[in-house]
Amino acid sequence: MNASYRLGIVGVGKIARDQHLPAIAGNAGFEFVAAASRNAQVDGVRNYADIGALLAAERDLDAVSLCAPPQVRYEQARAALEAGKHVMLEKPPGASVSEVEALRELAKQHKRTLFATWHSRCARAVEPARAWLAGRTIRAVHVRWKEDVRRWHPGQQWIWEPGGLGVFDPGINALSIVTRILPREVLLRSAALHVPSDCSTPIAAELECIDTDGVPVRAEFDWRHGPVEQWEIDVETTEGLLSISEGGKRLAIAGEPVEAGAEREYSALYERFHWLIAHGADDVDVRPLRLVADAFLLGRHIEVEAFGH
Ligand code: NAP
Repeated sequence: MNASYRLGIVGVGKIARDQHLPAIAGNAGFEFVAAASRNAQVDGVRNYADIGALLAAERDLDAVSLCAPPQVRYEQARAALEAGKHVMLEKPPGASVSEVEALRELAKQHKRTLFATWHSRCARAVEPARAWLAGRTIRAVHVRWKEDVRRWHPGQQWIWEPGGLGVFDPGINALSIVTRILPREVLLRSAALHVPSDCSTPIAAELECIDTDGVPVRAEFDWRHGPVEQWEIDVETTEGLLSISEGGKRLAIAGEPVEAGAEREYSALYERFHWLIAHGADDVDVRPLRLVADAFLLGRHIEVEAFGH
């Protein structure tokens, strides 16, 4: 029988309530015992104001799941690993690549599992797309990841602050899929970052990448989009077009829809976290974050109209 791990959750906001709490409730391998959040509480478990108080009081906790914005990920993860807990990180796994690498080392030192999640990689189109592309000749990749920021991020100031990633907060989901489905590594060549005059992070971006065979990979991210989201990845091959749409929910190959099973992104993440802990393993792939960091390194900054918070 599978072991059950006592779990705490940190940062009870939109994603914790929408996805983590239902996924944990549906997983018999985790016993949800406590939450830490400055302003929110979860019914039926013990609640603390911050992770320090949680770790001090809950000595028997096995694992924590960190759901706050990325700017506080490193300090929270470090505290949890030093207290001997297994750690699951929401995406992006940190505000910088170097802090994620430091956490990976710390987890090794403490012999604890570190799981840097990429929920979009668990979308149902992703693994069938990866399998189909493995034997194909790819000619070009085109990503369009566009939505209305006022609809999807109302009142979230952290996305506009350094470390908040701006439009890469959703855009990194596309990059997590691209780096999973393509058979070769992707490298950034140039980027344009459209930054509102009253923000630190971009509201839109275009990335020009290639894979290691020189195949062009182009991505357009835009938060100034209309009411119908565009979360699409097209892969042109010599055997037809592979299209991922609706953020990974739908797959079509050469114009034919491919049935790809039920939607269960966060259930799959918690199953994987359980497996990783049980097997003494970790899973930390920084490639999506590295591409975003490269865009900030190589990107041309273009000032655009103020967002008007
Ligand atoms: P959120 O609701 O704005 O933030 C989550 C919670 O984190 C807040 O309610 C807040 O709770 C806590 N928090 C905020 N700033 C903090 C700080 N400086 N120090 C400590 N705690 C802080 O954000 P979210 O949409 O849930 O996103 C959180 C993470 O999940 C992000 O990395 C995001 O990329 C990822 N994610 C979001 C979605 C989505 O649809 N929203 C989807 C997938 C992944 P307290 O005030 O109670 O402390």
